[in-house]
Amino acid sequence: MAAALVGKEAAILMPTGTFGNSTAVMTYCKAGDTVLVDEEQHILLTEKFVFDPGFGRLTPVCYHQDSRHMPDPAEIDRLLTETGAKLICLENSHNFSGGYCIDLPTMAEIRKVADKHGAAIHLDGARLFHAAAGLGVTAAEICRYVDSVMFCVSKGLGAPVGSLLCGSWDFCGRARGTRKLLGGVMRQGGVVAAPAIYALEHNVARLQEDIDNARLAHGMLRGKLKKLGLQEEVQTNILMLDLTNAGILAGDFCARAKEKGLFIRPVRNDYRVRLVFYKGITRQNAVDAANIILALDSEL
Ligand SMILES: *Cc1c(COP(=O)(O)O)cnc(C)c1O
Repeated sequence: MAAALVGKEAAILMPTGTFGNSTAVMTYCKAGDTVLVDEEQHILLTEKFVFDPGFGRLTPVCYHQDSRHMPDPAEIDRLLTETGAKLICLENSHNFSGGYCIDLPTMAEIRKVADKHGAAIHLDGARLFHAAAGLGVTAAEICRYVDSVMFCVSKGLGAPVGSLLCGSWDFCGRARGTRKLLGGVMRQGGVVAAPAIYALEHNVARLQEDIDNARLAHGMLRGKLKKLGLQEEVQTNILMLDLTNAGILAGDFCARAKEKGLFIRPVRNDYRVRLVFYKGITRQNAVDAANIILALDSEL
């Protein structure tokens, strides 16, 4: 079912997204190999496993985001030439940028570049279905440009646990071996699969609501904030606040928000706060959140 949704031959159930990404990358690579990753990619900054000198021992080479928060295929081309890397990792939607998407023309360009160098592409699609909703395309249309994709059912889709790694029969066969090696085989996996199936059947169609709620909050904040910075555009279900000029660190800001009933958290560093809109957040919650942030901003 998961494979069909993303247009691949096979899929494997994974305990977490980190597990799925690590399994995928370690299926393509061996210790010492070089991998292209986004400068702010989750695999690089949060998961770390595949690049850890005590575990995956891969070498990251970073590509950058352009002014539209997308990778530049020309830079990827140059980096593949310079490093001889045989794997490109993408993230769509992109967490730390604020939920920005890589559009289909850019995905297609990167595919062309990868083919020219004989490189594979793994997509971290933790929020793949939000990206699809944001771009107005199907998940399969995004995934046709990549060799493998990991998506989470445990985030916006609302299942309690689980991620899926999808790709060709051959790739998934080898990835099963990697998953076994890493200790990720779930014996009574049906217990994890059942809520995942429910989520895929019932919770994909409603993801546009999250994007609408994020845009609603963004619209209420845009042009109204004195100290806080706001990301330019909301493309999916994430909205980032920039505290660089706010005179307060993200942790303290979030503590003040919590006193007013808004639970948000710092991400990446002391100057960024992330709001994520998901199934548990209603339209009214989005309005209330924006009002709390407006009130906090006026107090700074
Ligand atoms: C959440 C997330 C993952 C996977 O995280 P787990 O907590 O291991 O399930 C991977 N990539 C991105 C971009 C994420 O936001």
